[in-house]
Amino acid sequence: MPEGPEVHDLADRLGALLLDETLDDVWFRDPALQRRRKVLAGKRVAGVVARGKALLIAVDGGWTLYTHSHLFGFWRLVDDVDALTSDTPPRVRLRCVRGVAALYAAPSVALWRTDDLDRQPYLAKLGPDVLDPAVDVAVFDAALRAPALAGRGLAALLLDQGFAAGMGNYLRSEVLFEAKLSPYRTAGDLDTAQRRRLAKALIDVPRRAYRAKQGDAHPPGKDYLAQIKRRFRFEVFEREGTPCPRCDGTIVNARIAARRLYWCPGCQH
Ligand SMILES: [Zn+2]
Repeated sequence: MPEGPEVHDLADRLGALLLDETLDDVWFRDPALQRRRKVLAGKRVAGVVARGKALLIAVDGGWTLYTHSHLFGFWRLVDDVDALTSDTPPRVRLRCVRGVAALYAAPSVALWRTDDLDRQPYLAKLGPDVLDPAVDVAVFDAALRAPALAGRGLAALLLDQGFAAGMGNYLRSEVLFEAKLSPYRTAGDLDTAQRRRLAKALIDVPRRAYRAKQGDAHPPGKDYLAQIKRRFRFEVFEREGTPCPRCDGTIVNARIAARRLYWCPGCQH
């Protein structure tokens, strides 16, 4: 499943195609949505943003297209409708003068009043987004001190979108490695320095992964990325059996909170 950096990068690419352009053709496979296509058709695209792993396309007139790709959904961006070659039709197709964006296989597609988005069930449950420039280390440092989280294991907590929106499975392994913390620790048993390291890794690692997807130019409104190192690679994720890049240990793969987690027992305590 795409994680925050991938969805934000997709939002940037969709924005480069659609932003400020008029949607001159809108098509939904779902008949009920197709009957309502005029809330988007003929409207100027006012915003394309990611929130957590959801993608929101807002138009003038107060409506937003909500999509969540879950495991299998994906967007294709092409110059012309004829370039969409697929056995199955897309779920959504948006056309403007610059090209066509089509969403395939995503189970969640809906039209929402932009003013009502905070009531959308997925968005309503999201915690602070690891890629939101307004979210900083202090936000997660405070969140980790919340008594309600004290008993939560870090492995499960780091997948909880209500704790940190945009986190996902590869980020979970890499954040814990960066913070030098065992996935079996709980939020409540971290000392001040450990909690601070984890909060900092929750900010730094996803932003490096996002930054690494971009060229020298930043997308509009993402100037904060200029401060972030562009280099990102998996230090532990999918590196089971290889030497730890930090100590003499060996990376192991454990199944924790129902997903595979890679970590180094030698230096993550
Ligand atoms: Zn190690």
